[in-house]
Amino acid sequence: MHLQRTMRRATYCAGIGLHSGAKVTLSLKPAPANSGIRFRRSDLGGLEIPANIHNLAGIQYATGLCCGQASVSTVEHLLAALVSLGVDNVVVELNHPEVPIMDGSASPFVYLINEAGVRTLPVPRRYLKVLRPVFLSGGNKRIALYPSDDFKLTYTISFDHPLLRHQARTLCITEETFAEEIAPARTFGFLKEVEMLRQNGLALGGSLENAVVLGETGVLNPHLRFEDEFVRHKMLDAIGDLGLIGYPVIGHVVAHRAGHALHTALAAKVLQEHDAWRIVETPEIVPTPGPLPVGVTRPAVVS
Ligand SMILES: [Zn+2]
Repeated sequence: MHLQRTMRRATYCAGIGLHSGAKVTLSLKPAPANSGIRFRRSDLGGLEIPANIHNLAGIQYATGLCCGQASVSTVEHLLAALVSLGVDNVVVELNHPEVPIMDGSASPFVYLINEAGVRTLPVPRRYLKVLRPVFLSGGNKRIALYPSDDFKLTYTISFDHPLLRHQARTLCITEETFAEEIAPARTFGFLKEVEMLRQNGLALGGSLENAVVLGETGVLNPHLRFEDEFVRHKMLDAIGDLGLIGYPVIGHVVAHRAGHALHTALAAKVLQEHDAWRIVETPEIVPTPGPLPVGVTRPAVVS
């Protein structure tokens, strides 16, 4: 059995919103067991927005949440870091409707959480354990969640661009693999889309400091952090979006050409299909039987 966790102490960072370009201060504050991840708008008198799929409000270029008069957008990278580092309960206080983009990855949030530290609460953590597959598709995009003994992700992307025609990766997500293999992967966009985004009031804070920008034949940034940074960032987005399920998932997510729309639609569909999962307090790793010595037969299992 694992216990729920929260921040050991309050901590904060400051940055700019990718889409708004506005300056924003973000604090992570300890919260009691079973209170979950909650965004709090200090500029709106402390209105709160619980991070769950029922409050989903936007999926265009970033994931946004809304509750009553309060909204918050671009939540996915921070959520991915909180979920992957096992911070079950936290108040995320902001003085602006957009989470700061930092360097476009989740690494600054991993640093912030690790630097402040976490502490356990005397209440068991509850997991959503997948019992049967749940599928979703739309056009040439698809996503599925299968039973598994751990939280695992398989992602493939394919774009009409020489640098990312096809990238695929499978990873078992733990605190360590997330921090090392996924968190550093930055958000990316196409140069030809930037002008259109800006005309629509988006990407106003975007720069080579917080996004990988793809030109016709290559990237405009000095270097990539991983050769397949793009698919790793899609995995980061999926982990954050699926964080809106509200429980850590024990299951295998398999996604092909998905994005915020399919990630969040899967989160909603899973919660609607009650027979596809159950809530458990122990991840229940089922050991696979090892080989028996020669001449020994395994007893029949009677149920
Ligand atoms: Zn992203």
